[in-house]
Amino acid sequence: MDSGSSSAPSKRLEGKVAIITGGASGIGAAAVQLFHENGAKVVIADVQDKIGQALADKLGDSNVCYIHCDVSNENDIIDLVDTTVTKYGKLDIMYNNAGIMDRNFGSILDTPKSDLERLLMINTVGSFLGAKHAAKVMVREKINKGCILFTASACTEIGGLGSPAYGVSKYGILGLVKNLAAELGQYGIRVNCVSPYGLVTGISGIKVVDPAIIEAKLSEMGNLRGEVLKAEGIANAALYLASDEASYVSGQNLVVDGGFSSVNPTIM
Ligand code: NAD
Repeated sequence: MDSGSSSAPSKRLEGKVAIITGGASGIGAAAVQLFHENGAKVVIADVQDKIGQALADKLGDSNVCYIHCDVSNENDIIDLVDTTVTKYGKLDIMYNNAGIMDRNFGSILDTPKSDLERLLMINTVGSFLGAKHAAKVMVREKINKGCILFTASACTEIGGLGSPAYGVSKYGILGLVKNLAAELGQYGIRVNCVSPYGLVTGISGIKVVDPAIIEAKLSEMGNLRGEVLKAEGIANAALYLASDEASYVSGQNLVVDGGFSSVNPTIM
């Protein structure tokens, strides 16, 4: 008789091959380690070659490697996907996580067009290209249970969490999630994204803030227990979405923000 209790298998991505863009640091690096621990062969794709290669060396086996890839460059993405398939035989999971923030976290009043273009090229176009070339190979190779994932942001739920230009670049990812989930479901490919808020990482262009300051602020604003989210918290959400446990989940934006975006400020 079913006791009602079930435990997740210890290696939730056994036999899968994953690419993680922006895998050299922050959320991406946490996902690289977690996916690797869970049995996946993992390709770290990034522009920070030294730390990306060092992470691959630290994990230290043939199931992980580093490949230089600027996600805004379509040829780099094509090479990344081709090299992965040549090396590991297939591609099951494409996690488009690479992203940048504005240099000055700017108001629209003084955001140069060039900043908007740069954010769109990396955060949105880079995500589009990653999804496009992963989907092409998944469809061509008739991959069973393909998965395309993105990291968006909780700024897709609530205003004022980033700059307007960053918000535009992350909203574009939601457009991809909905449209690709609809288009690629016929090939058995699921498409989802994780939207964090409250992390202390070194996201490009932003100074790392003292965690105690963020914790106090989040507590004051109603974040769950005032906890600062760690990159591992996002990696765990990505692991769930990438695993077969989420086999009926597609087209979703999983917001991981400790409830912050649900707080009604008028009752605080
Ligand atoms: P991070 O700066 O530690 O990681 C981003 C990674 O992307 C870096 O390793 C960087 O080298 C890489 N990258 C930047 N431009 C690239 C390019 N053109 N091609 C390939 N790689 C590139 O920051 P993070 O917080 O881990 O950010 C990961 C994702 O999470 C980003 O998409 C970010 O927008 C999103 N996010 C972060 C937060 C947060 O609070 N840190 C909140 C919401 C969303």
